[in-house]
Amino acid sequence: MTTPSRHTSRVVSLQPLSDSGYLLTFERGGLEFEAGRLLTIHGRVPTEDRSYTIASGEKDEHLQVLFRHIPTGQLTPQLAQKNPGDPIEFSGPFGEFVVRDPSHPVIFIATGTGVAPCRAYLRTHPGLPLTLVHGVRVAQDLFFRGEFEKARYLPCVSREDGTGFHGRVTDFFKSFDFARDAHFHLCGANEMIFDMQVFLLNAGVDESHIFTEAYYYRLHS
Ligand SMILES: Cc1cc2nc3c(=O)[nH]c(=O)nc-3n(C[C@H](O)[C@H](O)[C@H](O)COP(=O)(O)OP(=O)(O)OC[C@H]3O[C@@H](n4cnc5c(N)ncnc54)[C@H](O)[C@@H]3O)c2cc1C
Repeated sequence: MTTPSRHTSRVVSLQPLSDSGYLLTFERGGLEFEAGRLLTIHGRVPTEDRSYTIASGEKDEHLQVLFRHIPTGQLTPQLAQKNPGDPIEFSGPFGEFVVRDPSHPVIFIATGTGVAPCRAYLRTHPGLPLTLVHGVRVAQDLFFRGEFEKARYLPCVSREDGTGFHGRVTDFFKSFDFARDAHFHLCGANEMIFDMQVFLLNAGVDESHIFTEAYYYRLHS
């Protein structure tokens, strides 16, 4: 495992992927990492530092993170203003959200920007027999859809009809016939993670086969 360290590098590009989703590409600054690990991106002051899962593959030329621009937030308004050549400071790699045993089927369940680690896995291990259930509110937030369609890709769109399953991932699983011995990687909003953990445990999935990465906390609405 690589020892975390602090790096300064340069922005290569900032690509809008939807109304609020952006893909930020920057030089690696010598960083080595395993798919599933994350970075701290530093703001102007330490209270603005935030975590981002690396969305690029282990051998890709550059680092990439997928972020949602939160206009009232501290760091993402700064990231959304980045231009090619701008400096960017980050530390890492951190985190434990890696695929430990690829001999089991891997089912990735993500909401919104929580697909970032799944993309890192697929870019690093294109042959991994991975299932992705991706929950979003609107279809434009099905980030990297074209890339994911190479895997077993099951989009769930809660506020629009016409693309994949119409509803939340938790509703999708009520009628989804999945392998009980799979390893489940849950990533994104805490409410989905909590609800899916309860569902999977009640469905007989072993606790040791459930891995989680919560990005943010919000109460049930
Ligand atoms: C382990 C970990 C990994 C993370 N990886 C990513 C990632 O790859 N991509 C990413 O976009 N974010 C990720 N986050 C969230 C990220 O660290 C920031 O919290 C987020 O980008 C908002 O930062 P901000 O300073 O602009 O807003 P903040 O002031 O930190 O937050 C403003 C509000 O936005 C909500 N919020 C935070 N993140 C999101 C989100 N992704 N979607 C919708 N609402 C959100 C918060 O609940 C809060 O109410 C991760 C968080 C953790 C703990």
